Amino acid sequence: EKYAKVMGVNFPKMTLDRTIEVLTDVIEEKRPELFHVITVNPEITMACQKDTSLRLIIDEAGLITADGIGIVMVSRLRGGNLPERVTGYDTLLRLLDSGNQKKWSFYFLGADPLTNEKVCEVIRKKYPALSILGRHHGFFKQTEEDKIVEEIGTLKPDILVVALGAPYAERLIHKNKSKLNAKIAIGVGGSLDVISG
Ligand code: UDP
Repeated sequence: EKYAKVMGVNFPKMTLDRTIEVLTDVIEEKRPELFHVITVNPEITMACQKDTSLRLIIDEAGLITADGIGIVMVSRLRGGNLPERVTGYDTLLRLLDSGNQKKWSFYFLGADPLTNEKVCEVIRKKYPALSILGRHHGFFKQTEEDKIVEEIGTLKPDILVVALGAPYAERLIHKNKSKLNAKIAIGVGGSLDVISG
């Protein structure tokens, strides 16, 4: 049994280590399609019970992770046994670390303008061998979205990090999947605020 079903959502039984292995393969395989990673927290799990558009986004993701100890506990009660919680923050830190070793490229979308600028400085210092191809804060107008998506599509980052809050990040990634030209896109909630210090 490779999946545990919690509230109708099929979570793969994957540790953080295994998640990073899978994502490393995705980057090295040079797939044509964007690989959408969603760290599904209890709020998203609840919301997708009624929201069919959100449900579709989760069903079409390349990989979902169980981002909540409650989800892991429920899986254990039902014998599904998810191995551990896999958060956006932990996944991002590991991707930055691997990216620094393997010279991956990143684009950082989201957080307030100052945090977005600061987090890129912090990341450049701490992970000097990865490249930051571009960045944009997350308080843009709806009318500016296409321009930002186009910029990302031109830059073709290995990894697009989106910190806009769930499920807005997930909707933006899903809607623009074919235009973003990233290998992996992941919503990371408030992680950039934490990393920027
Ligand atoms: N944010 C943003 N644009 C917005 C609203 C929020 O860039 O219009 C950023 C906010 O600055 C923070 C992140 O999105 O960095 C949301 O973090 P939160 O912890 O609320 O996200 P969640 O865990 O709910 O996904």
